[in-house]
Amino acid sequence: MVSTIELSKRQEQIVQIVKDNGPITGEAIADRLSLTRATLRPDLAILTMAGYLEARPRVGYFYTGKTGQQLLADKIKKIKVMDHQSIPVVVNESLSVYDAIVTMFLEDVGTLFVVDKSSLLVGVLSRKDLLRASLGNQDLKSIPVTIIMTRMPNITMCEKDDLLLEVAHKLIDKQIDALPVVKHSERGIEVIGRITKTNMTKALVALAGDEIL
Ligand code: ADP
Repeated sequence: MVSTIELSKRQEQIVQIVKDNGPITGEAIADRLSLTRATLRPDLAILTMAGYLEARPRVGYFYTGKTGQQLLADKIKKIKVMDHQSIPVVVNESLSVYDAIVTMFLEDVGTLFVVDKSSLLVGVLSRKDLLRASLGNQDLKSIPVTIIMTRMPNITMCEKDDLLLEVAHKLIDKQIDALPVVKHSERGIEVIGRITKTNMTKALVALAGDEIL
């Protein structure tokens, strides 16, 4: 996996040597630093994995010309929804608004996905949807969630193979907190996960964690 790292002094030296002399063999780099090939092996492995250098068999090491920022962007663009998705909380379309509020507290989530009796996605319920319904002072136990939910085809969705970055753009553009990870089948749309702003925050932290290593 490509990773953005803080380079050690020796790694900086290696990058400089390859920049100036590449393609150059590991042996030749070791000579220039008066070190053994074995001593250099871990550094070369790190620099190659991190994307600074590229190794070609029988030719040697090349400098890729990528900056730390480009390498970080490359890495972010490899993160998929499936790497960070959580378990979705789904409720049936016959549920009352009152019970949806209770479910939201019990499950400790901010967004519920509404499914029909065949477990296919029909709607999304946010905290504000439920608050708005509560303001009306109506009998929340007799109002089904279908009355207040955001329904198909207006649901913003993603799939497990989508890039997490694309999903981040959707969250921003649509000004929503979460979207369902779905699977299209001949039956319809099934909910298999969810991505929320919390997942995005965790992805950011995971990315920084890598950097420290
Ligand atoms: P809140 O309303 O609690 O701040 P959101 O910003 O997620 O939460 O929701 C704003 C509105 O967008 C709500 O009416 C909600 O039903 C709707 N919504 C939430 N998620 C989605 C989604 N994935 N697709 C379409 N609409 C959504």
